[in-house]
Amino acid sequence: MNTSAEASHNHSHPLGHDHKKCVSEALGTAAQLCVVRGVQLTPIRQQVLELIWESHKAVKAYELLDRIKPLMDAAKPATIYRALDFLIEQGLIHRVESLNAFVGCNCSAHQHEQLLLICNNCQEVEERPAPEVMQALSEEIKQADFIVHSKAIEIHGVCAQCAETMGDQN
Ligand SMILES: [Zn+2]
Ligand SMILES: [Zn+2]
Ligand SMILES: [Zn+2]
Repeated sequence: MNTSAEASHNHSHPLGHDHKKCVSEALGTAAQLCVVRGVQLTPIRQQVLELIWESHKAVKAYELLDRIKPLMDAAKPATIYRALDFLIEQGLIHRVESLNAFVGCNCSAHQHEQLLLICNNCQEVEERPAPEVMQALSEEIKQADFIVHSKAIEIHGVCAQCAETMGDQN
């Protein structure tokens, strides 16, 4: 039995990361928030959210459609996009603009600014609140009298986990 391979086979996240916990927390929070806000987490919205939370990788809309088709025959692209819009509005997922893809958010119960670290190798997205960075950026933007509609910083590179794996191969 190869225990080390077993321990690392399914997730590239740091050791001790229990992804089932991420998923159950995300779905639990979503259900609660929708009740509090008086909005409906319809089966399609719930399904899309679950599929996005399969991992911390950014997922494209067409990939979601491919995965949802076998589960919900009636799912159409427009249905997926409406579900995605709803989830973004509720702050349950983020759009990764530079990839035109989506990732689950479990860091806050409301919409917020974010710094996204995007791994070009495994597509995992790590979200960091980075309040000092955002504060500095706000001040800079204010000086330009610019009206902000959305603010997200997307950084592309290689995550620590992938960097380690690449190192092993050399
Ligand atoms: Zn996770
Ligand atoms: Zn977030
Ligand atoms: Zn990576």
